[in-house]
Amino acid sequence: MKKFFTTLAVAAMLCGCASPASSAGTTTVSASADGFGGPVTVTLTMAGDTIKDCVIEGKDETPTVGGAALEELQKQVIAANGADIDGVSGATVTSTAVKEAVKAALGGGAGEVSYTPGTYTASAMGRNAAVTVSVTVSETAIEKVEVTDHAETMSVAGVALERVPAEIVAKQTTKIDSVTGATVTTNTIKTAVNDCLTQAGASVAALPEGYAVAGEAIEASADVVIIGAGGAGMSAAVTALQNGASVIILEKTSMAGGNTVVCGGVINAADTEWAAKYDVQTGEDATLQMFADMKAEDFPEEYQADFLTLQAQIKEHLAGDTSIHFDSVEYHIIQTYYYGLRKSLDDETIYGDYNLVSTMCKEAMPTVNWLETLGMEWQDVVTQATGGMWRRGHNPSMPKGESYVAVLEPKIEELGGEIMFETKAEELIVTDGKVTGVKAVKADGTEVTVNANKSVIMASGGYGQNLPMIKEYDNYWGNISDDIGCTNVSGETGDGIVMATALGADTTGMEFVQLMAIADPESGDLFTGLVPQSTANYILINQEGKRFVNDCAPRDVLAAAAIDNGGLFYMIADINIAENSRWLSNWEEQVERENTIMADTLEELAEKLGFNEEQTANFLASIEEINKCVDEGTDPAFGKTAFDLKVEEGPFFASPRKPAVHHTMGGLKINDKCEVLDTEGNAISGLFAAGEVCGGIHAGNRVGGNAVTDALVFGRIAGDSASK
Ligand code: ADP
Repeated sequence: MKKFFTTLAVAAMLCGCASPASSAGTTTVSASADGFGGPVTVTLTMAGDTIKDCVIEGKDETPTVGGAALEELQKQVIAANGADIDGVSGATVTSTAVKEAVKAALGGGAGEVSYTPGTYTASAMGRNAAVTVSVTVSETAIEKVEVTDHAETMSVAGVALERVPAEIVAKQTTKIDSVTGATVTTNTIKTAVNDCLTQAGASVAALPEGYAVAGEAIEASADVVIIGAGGAGMSAAVTALQNGASVIILEKTSMAGGNTVVCGGVINAADTEWAAKYDVQTGEDATLQMFADMKAEDFPEEYQADFLTLQAQIKEHLAGDTSIHFDSVEYHIIQTYYYGLRKSLDDETIYGDYNLVSTMCKEAMPTVNWLETLGMEWQDVVTQATGGMWRRGHNPSMPKGESYVAVLEPKIEELGGEIMFETKAEELIVTDGKVTGVKAVKADGTEVTVNANKSVIMASGGYGQNLPMIKEYDNYWGNISDDIGCTNVSGETGDGIVMATALGADTTGMEFVQLMAIADPESGDLFTGLVPQSTANYILINQEGKRFVNDCAPRDVLAAAAIDNGGLFYMIADINIAENSRWLSNWEEQVERENTIMADTLEELAEKLGFNEEQTANFLASIEEINKCVDEGTDPAFGKTAFDLKVEEGPFFASPRKPAVHHTMGGLKINDKCEVLDTEGNAISGLFAAGEVCGGIHAGNRVGGNAVTDALVFGRIAGDSASK
């Protein structure tokens, strides 16, 4: 099994460039080195050979990791009177950068660089697997840099893979800025190129600095200004543009898509006629019967009418042709409520706001149809995402969420909208009590002001990548570990919640964060393994070789069970399940990258998993049990509710999985027009919000497949409201 490599396998890339200055009795020397997010600059005030003062700047270091370590590193440098410091554990890259910058500042900076001509290759570990580069140098220049092999996610790292090699050649240095949103990939390429340059006999320390500098401030305006180019922001943009408004989107990273592009891509939308095209799966009638047996009084008053309609629909369906699949908008509403109903650790109950939940479910199918008018194509299949609770998932023709970007981004361009990439919104501008624009900053430090003639839409996603924020609010898990992974793209740091609450916006449900059980144990990614397209084919086995949970359970149940079973578990498949999973996972590729373990027999698979005799016996018995469940359509041990394929034909597969932070269900309080509400319940003039930045819909547990529905439905509503 492969080794862990999520943390950056990069020695900080040094880039000394000492610049001396002097005043009465002291001299100032300064140098930079590559930290995690960009340059870390050290300025030393010297009295003779003694470091009197040390100032360290690293604005692009992760605030909670490297950024938090700067003050301590500063003290260490002064105390050690040089670069011989311990560093700060957990902030290795920043610490190394500080050491190298101090060394460079004390010892002189960039100089002549010469190479032994030739072509050199080297690899460094990227986000998903090793990245290999080939570098051709003449005696005096870097002639060519090529990434020859990688497995990075193109929808996140595409710009970095193209831009970083070209910029290294153009600037003749690896001391360049990271591509925002693809820092790991950028640093990986730089590390591998530095390796090649070192092989060519060059001193990397002597390379010149090529960091970008801020340009002149930019001022722009549009009718609607949108923060975030994920699913919500892009669907808001297209809608506003279709309404005739002009639109500017500010996107922090270098690529559109946000979490929407790296998610499973499934969009839940209930349509009775569409569902009836598909056959029932064994076990599903039992779930319908469970809802039919409930009572209206089991539901809050505002949900009761929909429940009664659903009950009648189910009774009619069960009395008729039960070979076809059933669904309805009311079923979607009731399930979203029912599986989101949870209690906090303080015993406080939370459930979705009826207006928001019913709007989402009613507008889901019109949104699917709207996407089709834009060119979206679907597979002829209905699926149930992890924790989806029912097969109502529409699956785009392209894998994961790529289709949404492929359809929405060009449409924005075609309709005259603009996306300003690598531009981070930092503050909302308020004029006479109304939100009238956004202040932002480009990755190179250029200040940007965008005025909104009509309104601003906050579509900046959640805060899954902001663990301190998660822990500050969490009142559900209670014990989220510091080393938990995250399935999200890097931009999800809760900026929108900070910006809007600074104006008095209210939040709701911030105590509830979704953990995704089936994430990669190393990278936290969702699909670096063999993941079946529908949960009927999920077979989850713990480290004792035993089943431990209903494989179709809600996401919080799956994650809690996984944590109770030691965190790491295995997703099992045979060749038929593997072939059936091709849309999400190419099993040959997953096996080659060692994300998935393959064996000809179940016994051999158990051996490869390191199972002892007892664990192997457990494993074989578990597979026998699950195959019996498929035959009989029931799961007496764990209550699995849908069954499809058996595990019977080799080769067999096991993909290691572990819970990771996935979705932050709380956020800004909005109404069904997507107006952002203040703490008194009044709409904040000029400010709308949509998508994961909002709370109130999923409550304590989000149903799998509802995130894209939420983002796109409310994105459209926000775009419509904001442009009127
Ligand atoms: P949703 O599903 O709600 O659309 P996504 O995660 O798909 O959420 O998209 C949110 C987008 O917002 C991401 O692309 C993220 O990089 C971007 N973003 C987050 N914070 C900011 C910010 N301060 N300025 C600009 N863009 C931001």
